[in-house]
Amino acid sequence: MTAKVIDGKEIAKKLRESIKVEVDKLKVNGKVPGLAVILVGIDPASQVYVGHKEKACKEAGFHSEVYKLAENTSQEELLSLIDKLNNDPNIHGILVQLPLPKHLDEKEVINRISFNKDVDGFHPLSAGALFVGEKSLVPCTPKGCIQLIKEIGYDLKGKKAVVVGRSNIVGKPVSILLLNENATVTICHSRTKDLKAELLEADVVVAAIGRPNFVTGDMIKPGAVVIDVGINRLDNGKLVGDVEFESAAEKASWITPVPGGVGPMTIAMLMQNTLEAFKS
Ligand code: NDP
Repeated sequence: MTAKVIDGKEIAKKLRESIKVEVDKLKVNGKVPGLAVILVGIDPASQVYVGHKEKACKEAGFHSEVYKLAENTSQEELLSLIDKLNNDPNIHGILVQLPLPKHLDEKEVINRISFNKDVDGFHPLSAGALFVGEKSLVPCTPKGCIQLIKEIGYDLKGKKAVVVGRSNIVGKPVSILLLNENATVTICHSRTKDLKAELLEADVVVAAIGRPNFVTGDMIKPGAVVIDVGINRLDNGKLVGDVEFESAAEKASWITPVPGGVGPMTIAMLMQNTLEAFKS
């Protein structure tokens, strides 16, 4: 079997266009969604991500503010900027680009963002709301994974989904979202005894590990849907996922590429969350 490729880039583009149409309508009343992005330090990958977010905001017609703070910014300075943005009526979403420099307390920073402006969905209240099934802003990457599965018309009900990775930003929330879609979910991690055996049972695989080409074709059940969240840069500069694309595509029915799969969806979902925060 050779898998069909899930074109996240194209799907994300369409979503962003539909968000723009909605924003254009809202503009009639003189108000638009506003997103503030805070970047501390000069991490090259973070700078690229923030640039993409800023561009997407502009294209969607959002009000956008980007705060580029020095590497040695203090915890107090960062918290006071968040307080200011929490109280700014033109800002509906606040995103602090992670990772933060080591001297800053990431948890305290995330917890300071108002729950209703938490467009990344990383605040413990957002995580708790997702867990108990209450309305909240859902983390962008997991939300994007589910959206991709829906876009191919795949019904998750009763299917066996295996998530590899249990981080708070991808693995755990995507597992809850799959459960909400009535999939039977197994969460694997570095202490899982026989990962291959778990994966060979999976109708749906979500790989969020952070290890290049880790999941290979011999671990994929024929016909499975494979969602590769991983973004890994090899020494030769090439970007690859956590799934070895060529061998997995021989077994899967659908597969996301890296780049061009989950990555673009993360930004589209950020736009959607900011719009949701604006409307609520
Ligand atoms: P983390 O490092 O926080 O988590 C990685 C998870 O993988 C952990 O739960 C870890 O298990 C598990 N793991 C590590 N090694 C193994 C192994 N040998 N077998 C099974 N499980 C293993 O990463 P993130 O969740 O933050 O990110 C995962 C990947 O997704 C990265 O490549 C990241 O760059 C990418 N990413 C992509 C985004 C996008 O927009 N496309 C957004 C966010 C992340 P344990 O808990 O036991 O240590």
